[in-house]
Amino acid sequence: MTDRYLLVLDEGTTSTRAMLYAPDGRRIAMAQAELTQYYPQPGWVEHDAAEIWTRTRDCARQMVERAGGADRIAAIGITNQRETVVAWDRRTGEPLAPAIVWQDRRTTAQCAALRDAGHEAMLQQRTGLVVDPYFSASKMRWLIDNVPAVAQAGDRLALGTIESWLVWKLTGGLHVSDASNASRTQLVALDGTDWDPALCDLFGVPRAALPEIVDNAGAFGETLAALFGGAIPIRGLAGDQQAASIGQACLTPGDAKATLGTGAFILANMGAQLPASRHRLLGTLLYRIGDQRIYALEGSIFIAGNLIKWLRDQLGLIGSAEETEALARSVPDSGGVLMLPALAGLGAPHWRPDVNGVIAGLTQGSTRAHIVRAALESLSHQLSDLATAFAADGAPWRQLRIDGGMSANDWIAQDIADMLDVSVDRPADVETTALGAAMLAGLGAGLFRSLNEAATMAGKTIRFDPAMLPQPRDARLSAWHRLRDRTLAS
Ligand code: ADP
Repeated sequence: MTDRYLLVLDEGTTSTRAMLYAPDGRRIAMAQAELTQYYPQPGWVEHDAAEIWTRTRDCARQMVERAGGADRIAAIGITNQRETVVAWDRRTGEPLAPAIVWQDRRTTAQCAALRDAGHEAMLQQRTGLVVDPYFSASKMRWLIDNVPAVAQAGDRLALGTIESWLVWKLTGGLHVSDASNASRTQLVALDGTDWDPALCDLFGVPRAALPEIVDNAGAFGETLAALFGGAIPIRGLAGDQQAASIGQACLTPGDAKATLGTGAFILANMGAQLPASRHRLLGTLLYRIGDQRIYALEGSIFIAGNLIKWLRDQLGLIGSAEETEALARSVPDSGGVLMLPALAGLGAPHWRPDVNGVIAGLTQGSTRAHIVRAALESLSHQLSDLATAFAADGAPWRQLRIDGGMSANDWIAQDIADMLDVSVDRPADVETTALGAAMLAGLGAGLFRSLNEAATMAGKTIRFDPAMLPQPRDARLSAWHRLRDRTLAS
């Protein structure tokens, strides 16, 4: 074992963080910076890739200083918001367009055209993914079709997801993507190791602009010495949801975790078996290390913590996200208020980018507390739709491990246990995405021999047991089903 640190760069949707871990799993320090969200048109969500880079670099610098210099860091692990696309110029290393964020729905018509042309069954069977604006391929195509600088870049064009962008900037020009992030583009077959030429042709994405696909742990490259006062090896890379699954030690088939951040993402480990959902869930790569390929079944909810952010920033109904817990507890129920939180369409298992949100059941007696409570309740309602789909696909949740910013809310954790009727475990430190990236970096740096050994980094958990009677649960679910079905039908 080493006394050097692992440095994690966790590039989320709302903020970027750098964290320093000891190899025994202790988080030593953290630096965080907000990322600016751009909503230039309804349904559009953009980030500034240059800002992502400079804020990530600045956070990393603080951690390197805290560690006592670059030589005190054994390896870097990177984890990132998935599907978000960056186009940049290989010669200058500068972005050619705003990054299109995973939540962005501008390619809805493009996806509908693919569906109308009869490609959906093939795409789902081949890539494990449904046809939806969520995935990277249609976003890449949009940039080529609509941004002259991208269209005219020719062989100077580099495309990639956020980990590719960060590795390029950190190393001064290495163009790689890890297998978990690549599996979210819809340009790789689920059991494939490289970009699929037929899929690249279908979406019109030039193969030459794409990175080399690498493992989730290994020797990928080193940072430019000038950045941190010495080169630091990059040894782990993974999409945030895959990293969270690893950080939650979901290493055995059947283990399931729910990350409750901006969106909510449930992944169940399916082992080496290729997942084929019949209920509109996604098949995705959990990790690829050497000749080991482990898959997951995934349910993606687009709006979770974002709904709380919306209540705060757009409606001004609350002053802080933390306040929602006391407000929810201040009333016995939602007073009949019900929320369908489709602020960015509905994700799994409905996949309806065209649907908008609804607040139903308002009366003169409805209060701020009722609306906030309805917002929190809507998370369990969405999760219950996914629980049904996972069970129907033969992967029922025996127990659920939660993490992410929203999981800190005890009322939410209990409501999930109650409404799903499963026990819910929450680690004392909910930063499991970062922990997963630290585990991968430690494995890639040779500090551990296997992910199971790296899982010794994980700490204690707190359990929430279901305590609700069937009657109130069924009543809430029936009301949810009615609102959901009515909205989907309209
Ligand atoms: P991401 O990594 O997707 O950027 P985080 O995991 O940091 O997101 O979670 C942040 C989200 O969680 C925000 O959208 C915020 O509104 C929500 N959130 C944070 N704390 C709470 C809380 N105590 N109760 C409810 N929601 C919360």
